[in-house]
Amino acid sequence: MDIAAALSLLGQAIGVVKDLRELDKGFDAAALKAKMADLYATLADVKIALSDARESIHERDLKIKELEKKITALSSGEACPLCEAGHLKVIASQEHPDFAFAGVQERTLRCTNCGHTEKHLYDPNDRPKRR
Ligand SMILES: [Zn+2]
Repeated sequence: MDIAAALSLLGQAIGVVKDLRELDKGFDAAALKAKMADLYATLADVKIALSDARESIHERDLKIKELEKKITALSSGEACPLCEAGHLKVIASQEHPDFAFAGVQERTLRCTNCGHTEKHLYDPNDRPKRR
């Protein structure tokens, strides 16, 4: 159930209360009891519907947080190939032992989430390569 179902049930409950008010004028104990039972059942359904809705809102909030994390990771560098939650950040950079003459660097990157490290070649004349 969702919020729409809860609202429709609440509408039903209000209808029952309206009926009860009418009954009050020409007091009929049996009819009153039946309407009260109706009201309790409807309100119990409203409660279930609302707690279901709260649950799914909570699940959505978690999903949104997860997606926000991914967006941050993906938009602020290369995503970690291991955990896919963090992103790789350069923690060290040095000249490549063989290709320093061409400006090539060897960069060490560490995942901001799981701590995984890997080395990439950085060639200013080319796109970064993984070793
Ligand atoms: Zn990671």
